[in-house]
Amino acid sequence: MPRYAIISDIHANLDAFEAVADDLGRCDVDLVVCLGDVVGYGPDPGACVDLAMDVCDTIVVGNHDLAAISDDAMRGFNDRARAAIHYTRRQLAAHHLRAIESWPERASLEALDATHGSFGPNGFEYVTAAASAARAFDGFDAPFGAIGHTHVPIAFVAHPAPVALALDGDHFLDDERTPASCVRTHRLLAPVPHAVAEGWRALINPGSVGQPRDRNPDAAWALLDTDARTVRVRRVAYDVERVADKIRLAGLPERLAQRLSLGA
Ligand code: ZN
Repeated sequence: MPRYAIISDIHANLDAFEAVADDLGRCDVDLVVCLGDVVGYGPDPGACVDLAMDVCDTIVVGNHDLAAISDDAMRGFNDRARAAIHYTRRQLAAHHLRAIESWPERASLEALDATHGSFGPNGFEYVTAAASAARAFDGFDAPFGAIGHTHVPIAFVAHPAPVALALDGDHFLDDERTPASCVRTHRLLAPVPHAVAEGWRALINPGSVGQPRDRNPDAAWALLDTDARTVRVRRVAYDVERVADKIRLAGLPERLAQRLSLGA
């Protein structure tokens, strides 16, 4: 099963999700992996849970999904995110809640491990740069890892057996942790494929389906071919203004409508 579609951070944006689902159909994909945050922020949480259960082979849970089913998980959320979660809870039916409860925090597929935020000790750390990526690399074993959460398409690569030496008094000690200096960062710009060199591990963030934050409003997802060792981000246009209107109609905060067209 070498060709994975990796999708993440749908955020109850059904129009973007439907556009991506259509695009998946145009590509030759073996498995669809969803990295969570199916709900939160957007106007159509229930329909997005239904479509995710229909389209995805594997779904891991995101922090907004957890907040929809548990008050504890809402700690640290800002006012807009909280307002959206209260709206989300009013929209979800019992079968949606049961679906979310069934999603694990991480999943291991053949050559790919998947989680929402980070494989490191803090599962919802934002992996944005080499240091946080190094912590994530130490928390999974597969050649490829997939994470979402930042809404920015990016790939980190690291050599699997870095020789890192730490000085302890007069002695050098082997340190098996991945040093940040062994991590390289590559922005994933569609449609340019990124090749992962033989012997290197890669941590891939496909960006966000429903709320991109890389100044490009088009929905993002990634196609990872673990045999060819390539990853390619695809961008899919959808009617952003229509979704912004739905957000206003739902009574959600105005900023959540505005940010979609900014891709921020
Ligand atoms: Zn998110």
